Amino acid sequence: MSGSLYIVSAPSGAGKTSLVNKLIEQDSHIMVSVSTTTRPQRAGEQDGINYHFSSVEGFQEKIEHGDFLEYAEVFGNYYGTSKSAVESQLKAGKDVILEIDWQGAQQIRKLMPQATSIFILPPSLEELHRRLNNRGTDSAEIIDGRMNEAVNEMSHYHEYDFIVINYHFEKALEELHSIFKAGRLTQKVQSQNHQNLINGLLGK
Ligand code: 5GP
Repeated sequence: MSGSLYIVSAPSGAGKTSLVNKLIEQDSHIMVSVSTTTRPQRAGEQDGINYHFSSVEGFQEKIEHGDFLEYAEVFGNYYGTSKSAVESQLKAGKDVILEIDWQGAQQIRKLMPQATSIFILPPSLEELHRRLNNRGTDSAEIIDGRMNEAVNEMSHYHEYDFIVINYHFEKALEELHSIFKAGRLTQKVQSQNHQNLINGLLGK
């Protein structure tokens, strides 16, 4: 029995990480891939939990060794998905979430066209602005920069299989979960997981 691969993208401030964290708390069949990044560790983040924090040299070595399933430069830092970790979680039967940007999503689609991709949108630009503003004591210029980056990320929404709009956290969580639940009921996954039953039913 092997799991399925899911891509989840969103502009920062849409609530992606909170939704994904709650989802994995609720459903033990779902795992999140821990990416490697060269960006500085933020207060409250733990190495190996939120990200594997790396030097640029260390990251380049991993690229050369072919350790990444995909990698991209996002806002001036490198981010990459570990090939071996994802493969072993899928083999163990887990559904694996890649929380990655649109560039990584494009690479994964080429490599693994069976992956399901989900884009999370905020309810409005005003709300997104408010959420980005609430994050800290950043200047108006930095917030404007983040808004531009968010609009750029959102412009790729049409490349995704599913869209979840985060009007209300609980509703968005339920919608997100329903995508995973339906994914486990596809003919392909059900045939693979219940081959004996199906053979028996068909008298084989
Ligand atoms: P942050 O630095 O705020 O945690 O993440 C910034 C952006 O990098 C987010 O859009 C996030 O989805 C993206 N990101 C995080 N990990 C990866 C990764 O492994 N690959 C790619 N392509 N993007 C990533």
